[in-house]
Amino acid sequence: MSKRRHIDTCAVHAGREIDAGTGAVVPPIHLSTTYERDADGGYSRGNEYARDGNPTRTLLERALAELEGGKACAAFSSGTAACLAVLQTAGSGGHVVATRDSYHGTLRQLQELLPGMGISSSLVDTTDLDTVASALRDNSNNTRLIWVETPSNPLLQVSDIAGLAHLAAEHNCQLAVDNTFGSPVLQHPLALGADYSVHSSTKFIGGHGDVVGGAVISTSDDEGFAAVRSWQSRAGAVPSAFDCWLLLRSLATLSMRVRRQAKNAGRIAEYLSEHEQVCAVHYPGLASHPGHKLAGRQMNADGQSRFGGVLSFEVTGGEAAAMAVAARVRLFTRATSLGGVESLIEHRASVEGPDSVAPPGLLRLALGIEHFTDLWTDLEHALRGV
Ligand SMILES: *Cc1c(COP(=O)(O)O)cnc(C)c1O
Repeated sequence: MSKRRHIDTCAVHAGREIDAGTGAVVPPIHLSTTYERDADGGYSRGNEYARDGNPTRTLLERALAELEGGKACAAFSSGTAACLAVLQTAGSGGHVVATRDSYHGTLRQLQELLPGMGISSSLVDTTDLDTVASALRDNSNNTRLIWVETPSNPLLQVSDIAGLAHLAAEHNCQLAVDNTFGSPVLQHPLALGADYSVHSSTKFIGGHGDVVGGAVISTSDDEGFAAVRSWQSRAGAVPSAFDCWLLLRSLATLSMRVRRQAKNAGRIAEYLSEHEQVCAVHYPGLASHPGHKLAGRQMNADGQSRFGGVLSFEVTGGEAAAMAVAARVRLFTRATSLGGVESLIEHRASVEGPDSVAPPGLLRLALGIEHFTDLWTDLEHALRGV
């Protein structure tokens, strides 16, 4: 096909095809773990054993590859498994330069799992290209991968994907972007030069708080991606056929959900930044945010900048005040995670534990698709109590 389909069309149709055997419009869930061999010993129908690949997972992987403008995708049973599949490509003796305020589970992998695999890492401020460049200049490190999360969690810092891709190419290493916060609707790391786009599909892609999943989308289906594909099968953290089917179903509404969530987040961020009980709002959609211009360029849909459905803010009065606000909400649910249809509020520092980089008075909001007025009424009421 010459021209790429619009993301709205792609979200509905990617990976969907009429079932050849039955004419079913909605793809069936293939539960079979094993597939028949041809008389000559081959597997002409493409499936052998479900951990290595199965028709339902293949549809999901094809859909996600198309949505991200990639050549190949590997689906995993969690975002965490997807992250590790990419990080391990640095290989024994390799080094990873990574965003300092990455998702805390990714930091744990870098600090606790990867050293045992012979992979070292430096955590740096990836919003500053010079800082990344000097981390790369140290050749003794043997850097093979730059890992970037943008916008980051929970401070919503924005790193320049195209700039980092340029640095990665110069230093002959690969660039992976955790695109969970951007979602395939708002941010396209592969088009900006990244080698991998990684998702926790538990979040926006799943969108309904009922599937844990992950995905790695690659710009090419070469030997680099073969290492991810091989890890998928060898480490075995693969999603069930039912989870793949649920995610495929979720994709159909992804574009609508993400736009609505981003709109809600943008308005809530504006209102919060005017509120006297709030001393800081972290949201790249605010003109005061240091990454506002950059995010405006690299996060958009239909040529219009949109800054995602997650924000964080700091309540005057620190941890006790933040906990009091979280205690008073009625519509927002006090829970971790993000990207679902219902709005969540979370005191991040106490979720992450003592090594958290989150300020004690910080609350993270994951906006859902409810009506803005009800969301703001709830927050305003909760803030009035402190
Ligand atoms: C949730 C999350 C992950 C981990 O994904 P799981 O599906 O929970 O394993 C990784 N990166 C980011 C940015 C996340 O929000």
